[in-house]
Amino acid sequence: MLSVNNIQTYYGNIQALKNVSIEVPQGSIVTILGANGAGKTTTMKSIAGVLKPKQGTITFLDEDITNKNPDELVRKGISLVPEGRAILSGMTVLENLEMGAYQRKGSIKQDLDKVMERFPILKERQSQLGGTLSGGQQQMLAIARALMAKPKLLLLDEPSMGLAPLIVKDIFQIVKEINEEGTTVLLVEQNARQALKIADHAYVLETGRVIKSGSAKELLKDSSIKEAYLGH
Ligand code: ATP
Repeated sequence: MLSVNNIQTYYGNIQALKNVSIEVPQGSIVTILGANGAGKTTTMKSIAGVLKPKQGTITFLDEDITNKNPDELVRKGISLVPEGRAILSGMTVLENLEMGAYQRKGSIKQDLDKVMERFPILKERQSQLGGTLSGGQQQMLAIARALMAKPKLLLLDEPSMGLAPLIVKDIFQIVKEINEEGTTVLLVEQNARQALKIADHAYVLETGRVIKSGSAKELLKDSSIKEAYLGH
């Protein structure tokens, strides 16, 4: 579904990605692991059109999307839930969700009902300002807002960051369910073990390069991965 082919992305003169290639098959969950600064967020931003790679190509559903802007990509079915969530804290929960569908024409009522059914806490708090929600609820709102755009491919950048373990479990469960309902997922995570448990394939980034890839099952058993990312 998504093919990232040898992309090189820079911040000014600093090269953050040196030939990154990633395949995301339709219907799968693919995870990108790596230490701080490895280039995970840069990869996600490059796919979402927020950063433009200097070299390389990105194709989505057989179309070259390399230089498309984020709005166009949302219309084509790619939504990014950025690191740090970026919900609109001065707007209500309902307004945040409506913002997620701003590119769409026609009624969004049915989709609002659907995401509120999935996230009952958002229904309950729909009139509250986004900024008054807990961290976990804000992450749910960020995911729900992305779902309002009806993505075919959901890009999740560290959805479990800064959340308590019980909430982390909920978030991973939600990601799995969203995938089971037909949305393809590319997931960046520090929480490598849980990410590998729900993923089909995984890539490991180190200083802007893919140093390892394989099925999630294989990587869970890989001794160098265990040592570097799984805590033993
Ligand atoms: P983290 O988990 O810390 O977000 P990451 O794997 O997502 O790590 P990136 O944020 O993609 O890493 O960063 C990759 C490299 O690019 C790092 O060396 C980082 O210092 C550099 N970098 C990131 N953002 C900028 C920026 N705005 N300007 C210059 N360099 C940047």
